Amino acid sequence: MRYFAPRQNRFNGLWHFTVQEESGISAYGPCADGCPGHKTPQGALEHFAGSLLDKRKQLIRDGNFRPCMICGGTTNQRVRIGRKELSLCQEHQDTKTLLRFFDFESLMRDEMRGQDENKKDSGLLILPP
Ligand SMILES: [Zn+2]
Ligand SMILES: [Zn+2]
Repeated sequence: MRYFAPRQNRFNGLWHFTVQEESGISAYGPCADGCPGHKTPQGALEHFAGSLLDKRKQLIRDGNFRPCMICGGTTNQRVRIGRKELSLCQEHQDTKTLLRFFDFESLMRDEMRGQDENKKDSGLLILPP
């Protein structure tokens, strides 16, 4: 079982997205890659969620103009992840907005399933910040 959660560095008060395994707790994903840390647990979660979304999202731009689902402004851009497709203007393709439509836990589960193909124990629990 691996436990994923944003955790606070008690020396500088900053948050990283982390994984807890038998061997101990360590920063995970983009937070393990030179990230200076985040002021809030939500910041750490969004950093990681953003990397999952970036990996999987497809940006579509064509001749179909529709209203943006957030601001109603006309846009010919859509974001597709899996089978879901959303009309979103450039300004509203950020992680925070996308997480309103794409469930973080299911993104995470898909990610883990890919990684753990050869492992029996793909248990995963995301702790609330
Ligand atoms: Zn980070
Ligand atoms: Zn918009």
